[in-house]
Amino acid sequence: MDPIPYGRQHITQQDIDAVVEVLKSDYLTQGPKIAEFEEAFAGYIGTKYAVAVANGTAALHLCNLAIGTKPGDKVITSPITFVASTNSVLYCGGEIDFVDIDPKTYLMDLDKLEMKLANSHKGTFKGIIPVDFAGYPVNLERLRSIANKYNLWIIEDACHAPGGYFIDSEGEKQYCGNGKFADLAIFSFHPVKHIATGEGGMITTNNKDLYKKLLLLRTHGITKDANLFQNTIETAIGNELQTPNSELQTYPGWYYEMQDLGFNYRLTDFQAALGISQLSRAEEGVKERNRIAKKYDEAFTNNEEIKIPFVDDNIFHAFHLYVIQVKKRKGLYDYLRENNIFTQVHYIPVHLQPFYKYLGWKKGELPIAEKYYEHCLSLPIYPTLTDVEQSLIINTIINFYIK
Ligand SMILES: *Cc1c(COP(=O)(O)O)cnc(C)c1O
Repeated sequence: MDPIPYGRQHITQQDIDAVVEVLKSDYLTQGPKIAEFEEAFAGYIGTKYAVAVANGTAALHLCNLAIGTKPGDKVITSPITFVASTNSVLYCGGEIDFVDIDPKTYLMDLDKLEMKLANSHKGTFKGIIPVDFAGYPVNLERLRSIANKYNLWIIEDACHAPGGYFIDSEGEKQYCGNGKFADLAIFSFHPVKHIATGEGGMITTNNKDLYKKLLLLRTHGITKDANLFQNTIETAIGNELQTPNSELQTYPGWYYEMQDLGFNYRLTDFQAALGISQLSRAEEGVKERNRIAKKYDEAFTNNEEIKIPFVDDNIFHAFHLYVIQVKKRKGLYDYLRENNIFTQVHYIPVHLQPFYKYLGWKKGELPIAEKYYEHCLSLPIYPTLTDVEQSLIINTIINFYIK
């Protein structure tokens, strides 16, 4: 029996053919597949604009730059997330603050967020980074109304949730990352996520100004768009004028301008081709994940040792992760490993990471997140997990508790 990981990519012959085709073409990077991927992704998520980038962390970094995170700016997020959510703020010199999680959904507790904001001077915080943890969509309609009261921006970390949605107060489906409530949203295409491109990421937004900034920042802050050039044509050409009539001068073909300090955070064309191909199966993948989750739910629902994930009625969960809460967590984790089943823990609370100690957080200060961490375990969930494999996982877990 092959080892069973907690998550893995699904690569088909169609994916391989799409990549090979690009490898044989003229463009390995900065070619036509990028815009094609962006357009297809924006269509899937239901947003106006999408910007493909090198990875999810780069996406977060660019979002912070585009929205204007500056040294000293304070940003709020959940302690139960991957460190990239918080690191990206620090890259810009900003500071991170945490709000404890809701014990049911494991997402940032919006009641506690409101309390924290009400008890702080207006202007203390600049923005919020909500995380659709495990694939559970944040109620961004409510978060937006809170954010508006305090003039905060929202960058949604939707890495876990492409295809997930919540039903808003008007009965409309609001897909994660669709830009209706958040200013910006980000996704990752790491192989354990829903869509795999090796490394890769995407930013989505409905805001045209932010979109334009992101395009610049993704590629060194360089533009080749003559309509945006700031230097005069004379400066661009030098003193060797093309025609004596300065009205007829145009910028030379080689000319570009660096107008901001950006980065090389581009995705390659063969990755974009893989992304386009993967995207065509994304919806089916989320359905598969839900089917697998349901089978786990049914197996464990009456088991006193195991708490299954909560899913509210107005939620379509994207199930990047299937997180259970258990007693004797380390024992179960080790026992499953001995049986070639590799579970994982998501996440070690960020405020307990040694690097983040400088912020002054101590154990006990975010008790719900810490207690969650002591008992959480992510079981294998991915579209190619077979029925036989899943039954083996379930039986091995049940065996552990009766042994
Ligand atoms: C994967 C992930 C990231 C970072 O994405 P990379 O592509 O690995 O850089 C950020 N936030 C969350 C919640 C993630 O799961």
